[in-house]
Amino acid sequence: MSTSPSPQHRATVLVVNSGSSSIKYQLVDPDSGDAVASGLVERIGEDTGAVKHVAHGVTTRREVPVPDHAEGLRIVLGLFDEIGPDLATSNVVAVGHRVVQGGALFDGPALVDAEVERKIEQLAPLAPLHNPANLTGIRVAQALLPDVPHVVVFDTAFFRTLPDAAATYAIDAQVAADHQVRRYGAHGTSHQYVSQQVAQLLGRPVSELNQIVLHLGNGASASAVRGGVAVETSMGLTPLEGLVMGTRSGDIDPAVVFHLYRNAGMSIDEIDDLLNRRSGIKGLSGENDFRQLHDMVAAGDTAARLALDVYLHRLRKYIGAYHAVLGRLDVIAFTAGVGENDDIVRAGVLSGLEALGIELDLERNAGRKSEPTVISPDGAKVTVLVLPTNEELAIARQAIEVVGA
Ligand code: AMP
Repeated sequence: MSTSPSPQHRATVLVVNSGSSSIKYQLVDPDSGDAVASGLVERIGEDTGAVKHVAHGVTTRREVPVPDHAEGLRIVLGLFDEIGPDLATSNVVAVGHRVVQGGALFDGPALVDAEVERKIEQLAPLAPLHNPANLTGIRVAQALLPDVPHVVVFDTAFFRTLPDAAATYAIDAQVAADHQVRRYGAHGTSHQYVSQQVAQLLGRPVSELNQIVLHLGNGASASAVRGGVAVETSMGLTPLEGLVMGTRSGDIDPAVVFHLYRNAGMSIDEIDDLLNRRSGIKGLSGENDFRQLHDMVAAGDTAARLALDVYLHRLRKYIGAYHAVLGRLDVIAFTAGVGENDDIVRAGVLSGLEALGIELDLERNAGRKSEPTVISPDGAKVTVLVLPTNEELAIARQAIEVVGA
């Protein structure tokens, strides 16, 4: 007979996601998947920072100056002390840090040591906004929580299995090698988690399933996963490649960059900003949230209609391409903000694909899904489902595996 440990003795993992001006955190019970507490520090380095801490069903907000990440994390630990839960009695067995870019150096999670920190630093040119911020968060957290092992989980690691044919850009091989130019992907923690959960939900070994996973949030990416192993993904050297996203263009002729630089007088930084933050759905319609986009389409806004059409067209092309890459397709899984909540997008992208064995049950598809839900008809060749992602839980579970708790 198994006995469940009492809640205060259950292992927890503190998951930390440090951005350039923010720290997101969650205290996770890796067994149940429950978020015991969570929160967010924003506007680090600005005059007034914003802090939100959610615990015991109560949300606490503070507006205080947060000059740097160290102070941000000190405030977070202070809130755990003041409001709870008490970290000292929460049996925190690891701190799991999300790191955006693991390059060719990491194919899985790693226990933080000096060598790991050096490698994350070395990869900064590939993710100049993210890796340095991630590393700052790691160092600050280590200083404040020195008795707990710290583990890094990379957004790119799941895609280290991409075959060379998929990961290689067709450019001068020496230039590519000298500057680490290849396709690394992103959102890997989510694609891995979702593809494994799908197998569990269907009661099938992941090794038997060929899946297309569509992570459609403000950032968006598709992956082809054969037998649990990633063989294609839509993001590349950076998260800019691939699908049309909330504010990113996704695939574009690289000559657009030369054209804008030479003929529009735009600097490289301005073009970077254009393609990453002023493009995608927002660039075409003025709005990057799909709820507003649908309202605009319903009101007859032609720019919004075009934005949605461009988004769906790109997504449909990727589904066709990944179907061909996989040869046989068993599963299409939708996840993240748009994938889980937007039945119009799900229905729009899959309509007319019956010849590929892809069908949708419109009643099953209707509405937002907070639980895993099959949305294809019984007996369909391809099982289509919505599988809510949980990157914090995935990071917590990987951290537990590394520390062997
Ligand atoms: P994520 O990046 O995964 O947090 O996804 C955020 C995006 O999900 C938002 O920008 C919205 O476009 C989309 N979203 C969230 N809720 C809904 C909803 N109820 N219906 C349609 N889209 C939604």
